[in-house]
Amino acid sequence: MTVPAPGAAATDPEDEPKDGETVVKAVAVPEMMPLVPPTAPPVQPKEGKIVFTRCELQPPAIALTFDDGPHPDFTPKLLDILKKENIKVTFFLVGRCVNAYPNVVKRMVDEGHEIASHSWSHPLLTSLGDQSLDSQMQRTHDAIIKACGVTPTLYRPPYGATRISQRKFIHDKFGYLAILWDVDPLDWQHPRTSKKVHDRVLEQTRIGSIILCHDIHETTVDAMPTTIADLKARGFQFLTVSQLLDLEKQAPALPNSPKLPPQAIAAMAAAAAPATPAAPPQPVPPPKPAPKPMDTSKPLSLEAPGEIKL
Ligand SMILES: [Zn+2]
Repeated sequence: MTVPAPGAAATDPEDEPKDGETVVKAVAVPEMMPLVPPTAPPVQPKEGKIVFTRCELQPPAIALTFDDGPHPDFTPKLLDILKKENIKVTFFLVGRCVNAYPNVVKRMVDEGHEIASHSWSHPLLTSLGDQSLDSQMQRTHDAIIKACGVTPTLYRPPYGATRISQRKFIHDKFGYLAILWDVDPLDWQHPRTSKKVHDRVLEQTRIGSIILCHDIHETTVDAMPTTIADLKARGFQFLTVSQLLDLEKQAPALPNSPKLPPQAIAAMAAAAAPATPAAPPQPVPPPKPAPKPMDTSKPLSLEAPGEIKL
């Protein structure tokens, strides 16, 4: 991944993003929050994984995520689509946008979506000192709680970039897990089209994928009805990121288990078949072991560990 020169993308509002993320137009962020005292105890690494790019699990579940909002027009439009599709997603929110549009954040929570932190003003965190990092995360944490009463448990660093010491600091202070992604439709790139978003998401998504999208681009929001419908047709079920992480604990992937659900394998085989085959068609070997087909009309149960309803 190419990241902007330290400080460049964080402060120059005209900079084009370099790595798949959108730079929210930046303004100077005063450091008004309490600073980390110089005598703060050193961060101790905790046991367990604190960074995720995808999940390894058996059921064909995925998580759709949206960054950089809320946007006053496109996010409500997206929420309408998600309500119609009856799916829940995870929003990684920019703190100052939370402050600007708290009612949109409230609506996200009221409609069952997960909300998480994406920093206050979308800087490249690796360019920040400890005090600025603390301010970016604390202000966003407080703004989300103020807007909707929910305490976030996840964050996504802008551009996906953090130093290891910063991840440990954020995990220690806020208890956040860092959520990256394994599916990136590059929906910020020009020329933006909904078809590109749809095609790239469909091409990259596997069982356990975490899909990165941005609800500040209308083309991305407009891509969602067909994208969601086609992912459903392949047998995928949509969960929030926290639900996906829980499910990974309950139903981890078996060794050598296929990454694609049966419907996706069949769809890819059909798409690859020539219209007028000149040679005998090559059979597509079935995956071994094949995962159970999922009844997508029923929600996955996350209530009782070990009792996942498929
Ligand atoms: Zn972002």
